[in-house]
Amino acid sequence: MSDRLPGFSTLAVHAGAQPDPTTGARATPIYQTTSFVFNDADHAASLFGLQAFGNIYTRIGNPTNAVLEERVAALEGGTAALAVASGHAAQVVVLQQLLQPGDEFIAARKLYGGSINQFTHAFKSFGWNVVWADPDDIGSFESAVTPRTKAIFIESIANPAGSITDIEAISTVARKAGVPLIVDNTLASPYLIRPIDHGADIVVHSLTKFLGGHGNSLGGIIVDAGTFDWSASGKYPMLSEPRPEYHGIRLQETFGNFAFAIACRVLGLRDLGPALSPFNAFMILTGIETLPLRMQRHCENAKAVAEFLAGHPAVASVSYAGLASDKYHQLARKYAPKGAGAVFTFSLKGGYDAGVSLVSKLQLFSHLANVGDTRSLVIHPASTTHSQLDDAAKVKSGAGPDVVRLSIGIEDKEDLIADLEQALGA
Ligand SMILES: *Cc1c(COP(=O)(O)O)cnc(C)c1O
Repeated sequence: MSDRLPGFSTLAVHAGAQPDPTTGARATPIYQTTSFVFNDADHAASLFGLQAFGNIYTRIGNPTNAVLEERVAALEGGTAALAVASGHAAQVVVLQQLLQPGDEFIAARKLYGGSINQFTHAFKSFGWNVVWADPDDIGSFESAVTPRTKAIFIESIANPAGSITDIEAISTVARKAGVPLIVDNTLASPYLIRPIDHGADIVVHSLTKFLGGHGNSLGGIIVDAGTFDWSASGKYPMLSEPRPEYHGIRLQETFGNFAFAIACRVLGLRDLGPALSPFNAFMILTGIETLPLRMQRHCENAKAVAEFLAGHPAVASVSYAGLASDKYHQLARKYAPKGAGAVFTFSLKGGYDAGVSLVSKLQLFSHLANVGDTRSLVIHPASTTHSQLDDAAKVKSGAGPDVVRLSIGIEDKEDLIADLEQALGA
């Protein structure tokens, strides 16, 4: 073996996986079991006391899921990862380690509609307060910081408009405030952007989207960058203080630069329970093997479709950072030089009615609430994913009434353009 570090595509196929030690199976087996036999009573006690690593029960960890965790940690450049049942579960588990009732976190206003809902309504019942900031105005993050701020949350490529967030500038604000920066990297995938390289402390994903990539399995993951000092400020007792659940151990002191991933597993997943099925982990691992190939085609197709729409007389505007004329193009060149992703929006001169009509006339595009599928998808956010927002908030989050969102798949781009042409023209 050479001492060359493996490249991204090699890691996407191999990281975390070995031939199965008992059977030689080359594909990662689905360990479809709830529980694992202990060697003896001492072994059982040491696993429960976090004195040894090993499998206990699939709610806490599973060998199929462990391969997925190692693979995504390698692709993102983190120290460790934890797979969970969905992207939303990842967000709950992360914030549970950081916030106490009455605490605040700052979130970019341009987010996946489900995250806006979760942060605004569900988290309120935990006593966690979201404070919104504008990702296009870094000063709005700075002025939102208070002594109760415990984290900052952004998307690297933001839903729905595919805008690019200045991760380094916001990481500087987080560093100054002494709080971790959490980046939802779902729309970029680590193939396009690796947030840890730009100052993120924690990365979360909905594996449901580009990583799984085939629209067939839900999943989520948390990646620990291993960069944050949880004990410096006294603000993060879950990580710095003795844990009564584990005979008084302190997680950062014991686990060092992967303490956050451990906290998410042994305090979050163990007690909240959103475990990922090993079957879904297998499906997502299989998807990740082709991530680099798929992302190349997703981006090539998205750019061609965006260019077609930008030249169409029925279209008022296209928001795609891959277009040279786009407001986010400079940020795209810096953060996502391989492509600006495949989720973007455009608006129609005919407004809301034209948007609804277009969606109904498209044939190859599927009208549904998902992104990051091999298939091309379309939705009208104002009447669906972002319908809970008032009109001003819709416009601010990039989901005004005239806006249509596309997630471009890996079909032949000529067929996608022909479908849009017939739907816009008819
Ligand atoms: C889909 C999505 C989520 C939520 O993930 P689920 O797997 O559906 O729970 C979070 N963030 C972004 C950007 C998403 O696209």
